[in-house]
Amino acid sequence: MTEILDRLAGRVVVVGSGLAGMVTALTLSPKPTVLLTRALVGAESSSAWAQGGIAASLGEDDDSGLHLADTLAAGDGLCDIEVAASILQDAPATISLLESFGVRFDKTLEGKFQLGLEAAHSRRRIAHVEGDGCGAAIVAALIGAVRQTRSITVLEGIEARRLLTANDRVCGLLCATPEGALIVSTSRVVLATGGIGGLYEVSTNPAGNYGQGIMLAARAGAELSDMEFVQFHPTALDSTRRPVGLISEAVRGEGAILVNENGERFLADQPGAELASRDIVARAISAEIARDGKVFLDARKALGQRFERKFPAITTLCREAGVDPSSERIPVRPAVHYHMGGVATDLNGRSTLEGLWVVGEAASTGLHGANRLASNSLLEAGVMGLRAAQDISGLPAGGAIFPTHVDVPPPADLSVIRPIVSRSLGVLRSAEPIDGAIADLLAHVEGHGPSADPALVALSIAVFASLRHESRGAHARTDFPLKLACANRRRMNLGAILSTARRIVSDPLPVVHKECPV
Ligand SMILES: Cc1cc2nc3c(=O)[nH]c(=O)nc-3n(C[C@H](O)[C@H](O)[C@H](O)COP(=O)(O)OP(=O)(O)OC[C@H]3O[C@@H](n4cnc5c(N)ncnc54)[C@H](O)[C@@H]3O)c2cc1C
Repeated sequence: MTEILDRLAGRVVVVGSGLAGMVTALTLSPKPTVLLTRALVGAESSSAWAQGGIAASLGEDDDSGLHLADTLAAGDGLCDIEVAASILQDAPATISLLESFGVRFDKTLEGKFQLGLEAAHSRRRIAHVEGDGCGAAIVAALIGAVRQTRSITVLEGIEARRLLTANDRVCGLLCATPEGALIVSTSRVVLATGGIGGLYEVSTNPAGNYGQGIMLAARAGAELSDMEFVQFHPTALDSTRRPVGLISEAVRGEGAILVNENGERFLADQPGAELASRDIVARAISAEIARDGKVFLDARKALGQRFERKFPAITTLCREAGVDPSSERIPVRPAVHYHMGGVATDLNGRSTLEGLWVVGEAASTGLHGANRLASNSLLEAGVMGLRAAQDISGLPAGGAIFPTHVDVPPPADLSVIRPIVSRSLGVLRSAEPIDGAIADLLAHVEGHGPSADPALVALSIAVFASLRHESRGAHARTDFPLKLACANRRRMNLGAILSTARRIVSDPLPVVHKECPV
């Protein structure tokens, strides 16, 4: 029996309660808003697990132009420059907005921000809260603000399973609750459902987040972009814990070095060394592991006994795995961490489907290009949450359309998808495994069973990866190691993704690059 939640009909519905969702809901105030989330508010979010902080050009030696240059360099030629400039310009204002919601950034006695350094940033520009407990502190402050905001109705323990549409626009959400199916009738939905790490066996993300926002938007007809670009964090703690713990780049920012089992500093000759961009460091570590080696982060000389004071949360993580980071080397390995791709949006978070906004990691604005610059993601989540809310506030309230009954799809089964994705869409990729994954994933999508929803997200990544015949940013192909001279971002809707997948399965074409020389 499907319950229809008509008492809240017509309100804006924000799905997901990480930083992006909560900033959106708070900025929409006093407009009546529903904040609907899978677990408890703020829980099961990457936001709460962030360690490093938020990038913003707040230092006296810094400005948004320098921040832009670093972002474009990391993005490896695929950032949308206009989008990046616009988002980065809003960074200092977003930090102030978060402060207005009660976030207390770490400051000096003189009241200046204590700014950290992270990989591929040319300046100290990472604002943090409570050292490496940054995400938890930010999320706690935002939860406090949400709970005090009367215009926000929080619905916890509810998972959005389908976006409902009528006449090519959003008309509601079909959700699963512990009591059964629920339809929330609304003409304005903001998806803030986070990343795709749950699709992989080894990830730093909450295990249940597999890209639900991408699945919901794609099934409803919205376009996706940049799906092939999946960022691997180079230094996850190599232990049996799942999701894996993260050893923030900030530790390398403080001078910790990477060595192999022979004590060799294998990145010493690389420009930027351990602070080169994530894709470069992840590939170098993967190469060491591929030859059956081991990789360690050595902070003994750089930090020693200062480690615990500087990185209390990371110290706890290491100790849980039996490692004392002040006196021992920390075993590390790459792990899936962040998705640059997602639902294509404009600078206000609008998707190509009327009535649907997408913000935070679920979206693809063009800020990150082929590779995200560290700590630009919480920033983007804040800026775009604010902008989507302002955009919606300027629109007249839509009339509620009551959707007809639809069956609620089953909960996602990730167990069969993770091995396929981990095998074929990792740090190093090539045609045969990618095309094999497309065949397997297409069968799951067309089977319409419990694996179909995560398979659809994974299939989209595989199809985009299959079509990019070059190595760029986080997308590294052993069969196409060079960059093409005329690479572009790609956008596709679900129809195009499925027909491309079917074409690849039935008739893999030989690859020709006549019009686009290397
Ligand atoms: C360990 C770790 C450390 C990181 N450190 C940093 C850092 O220092 N700086 C930085 O900039 N970035 C960092 N990142 C990345 C950053 O945290 C994320 O990109 C960002 O928090 C994403 O925010 P979000 O609001 O888009 O999604 P999330 O914070 O992931 O929130 C997603 C929300 O959606 C909910 N949800 C998902 N699906 C559904 C559904 N179908 N129905 C209802 N609810 C749903 C989830 O439960 C959750 O509440 C880190 C990530 C990780 C995993």
